[in-house]
Amino acid sequence: MPQKAKLGQNFLVDHSARVRIVEALGDISEKNVVEIGPGKAAITEILAQKARKLIAVELDSELARNLEQHFAGTKVEVMEQDILTVDLASLRHGEEKLLIVGNLPYYITSDILLHIFRYHDAVSRAVVMMQREVADRVAAIPGSRDYGLLSATTQLYARVEKLMTLPPGAFSPPPQVHSSVIRLTLSPRFEELGVDADGFIVFLRSCFAQKRKTLLNNLRAAGFAQPSIAQAADAAAISLQTRAEALPLEAMAALYRVLKTA
Ligand code: SAM
Repeated sequence: MPQKAKLGQNFLVDHSARVRIVEALGDISEKNVVEIGPGKAAITEILAQKARKLIAVELDSELARNLEQHFAGTKVEVMEQDILTVDLASLRHGEEKLLIVGNLPYYITSDILLHIFRYHDAVSRAVVMMQREVADRVAAIPGSRDYGLLSATTQLYARVEKLMTLPPGAFSPPPQVHSSVIRLTLSPRFEELGVDADGFIVFLRSCFAQKRKTLLNNLRAAGFAQPSIAQAADAAAISLQTRAEALPLEAMAALYRVLKTA
């Protein structure tokens, strides 16, 4: 079966990495687990032995068909579907939250993360592999080179741990990049930061809209009036010449709370 590069098909062949990815989920014996992009079942085989139930979501119909045959009559349910269209909440077992795992198709990594965050009420943890540079951005701290909108958004929803990095040779065919596995423990911070989710996310997007611009310029471009911005920055004790990349979420939230009522 030919590899479909456009579907991000680089199959994991490093056995110890497969085991470590599953172990990073913790005890899954009572959990429903969703695997994103099971491919040729490198991780699926191990998950199938340990999870209460495994829902394997694969877009490639040929791979999905093979998986269905291979796992027929087991606790593995194969869904031939684009993960971005899957209603994750419907896959829960009662009140129990889901676990998510996957060696992600790298071309839609950010979209998949946002999809998981949309279902933050239904998911407790995710262990996912992505291109190393993207993992670095997800885990970056404010003020560092890699910190940006993806870091801020992810860290609004989850605690991030970088678990391991694998070289191209851990996959077949080898990709052109290194890959990293991260664990996300879902724990949204909206309440603690005193902000509403929808409004604050739109605000963050405005703040990060143009990487080289100062906060002042990005907020002006988003339609805020200069006097309100100045007043809010003053109240939140933030310099308007700062870039969004330098500010922790607490400072962003302080600015948003004042601007919202200005
Ligand atoms: N889990 C396997 C492994 O580790 O060897 C395969 C990982 S491969 C990097 C990504 C997998 O995601 C491929 O099997 C690909 O067909 C599948 N895929 C690509 N786009 C997808 C989508 N939108 N929804 C679900 N699966 C997708």
